[in-house]
Amino acid sequence: MTSLATTEAPAPRGEHDLSSGVLLDGIIKRYDDDRPALDVEQLHIPGRSLTVLVGPSGCGKSTALGIVSGLLTPDEGRVLIEGADVTGTPPGRRGVSMVFQDFALYPHMTVERNISFGLRLEAKHHRKAGLDKAEIERRVAHACDSLGLSELRHRRPAQLSGGQRQRVGLARAIVRRPQVLLLDEPLSALDAQLRQQARVELVRLHRELGNTVVLVTHDQLEALSMATHLVVMNNAKILQVGSPAEVYRRPLDLFVATFLGSPPMNIAEVTLDKAGDAITAPGLTARPARPISGIAGTLKLGWRPGDGLLAHDAQPGRPGLLIDGVVELVEFTGDSLVVQCGGEAGRWAVTLPATGSAPAVGTPLTVHVPADRLHLFVPETGARVEAADAPADHQR
Ligand code: ADP
Repeated sequence: MTSLATTEAPAPRGEHDLSSGVLLDGIIKRYDDDRPALDVEQLHIPGRSLTVLVGPSGCGKSTALGIVSGLLTPDEGRVLIEGADVTGTPPGRRGVSMVFQDFALYPHMTVERNISFGLRLEAKHHRKAGLDKAEIERRVAHACDSLGLSELRHRRPAQLSGGQRQRVGLARAIVRRPQVLLLDEPLSALDAQLRQQARVELVRLHRELGNTVVLVTHDQLEALSMATHLVVMNNAKILQVGSPAEVYRRPLDLFVATFLGSPPMNIAEVTLDKAGDAITAPGLTARPARPISGIAGTLKLGWRPGDGLLAHDAQPGRPGLLIDGVVELVEFTGDSLVVQCGGEAGRWAVTLPATGSAPAVGTPLTVHVPADRLHLFVPETGARVEAADAPADHQR
């Protein structure tokens, strides 16, 4: 599992420098029952990254954020921020700010005063540590500017849209200039169009602030589109860490493979022959790019709908998958057609350009998928099988 906490992409400076960013080391968190809500051997969130924790509801994402922020105490393990052990440090002294899903604004205060509230309180109670009035005003003005709130400074929360309120919550966190900004489902209250806009704004803000941002979401599309570093979780565990492109193209686990991507990856149960170069199942045949040794038997074969080509476009005899089916449903999505098929191999989908003519429901279809776009997994463990480096991939 430790090997998963590193990425294969060329590392930006500080990427593998464990003294920068956040390190969760041997963290276990239990609530009432024996089964941990979070069980992380090691997770490094690189300094200045926009790291997104993604996974289904209940997999432990918010628990992980709570442990970084200090609002939750782990039962085992250490939390390091910028190389310093903060496991016993209270939330206020960790250099961390958190924006919650359902953060509350003070209804009687203007936008401006909501944003400056924390800083003003600090200035009042800790004269030495607090900021002076002019600096607070400068920071509020800058945050309002960055988040497009300048025109709304004098309004009260009731006079704002959901998206605007969300931005006020963000502004309130960033005026503290935290080393680490933690965002728990920050875009969940927004409608689809605003969400798209808010994603772009958050990515821009992250670049501008240059600090470490950890964002939690259950939305795989949001995660893929925003993250510099993606962390996929399920059942309290981290399954894979890497850049969105790496994790999407080379999922190390069956859950990761099917969780990321829409329409989701097609999966069929197949048999690999002893020689390791013929994959068969009713309704399909496939040949891997290179023979796969030592793992003959039943496997799960995966391929993304977007990697399928109509078979008449494929060069015959090349390695890859050929699958037969009958068109059951055609969905128009704008740029593409999602064609749902059924056949002996079960249900599967292929994405075709919307510029071509749509295949009619009930017509037979044969699809080819190039060998380098096929994914194989061990059914019992979900572990990825690879021709070139199968032994390494099995040490999960
Ligand atoms: P996520 O953020 O991925 O939805 P959470 O971290 O909130 O998941 O929860 C992880 C697991 O811990 C879930 O099974 C959840 O029910 C449980 N859990 C979370 N908070 C508490 C709590 N305060 N008391 C008991 N169980 C909790």
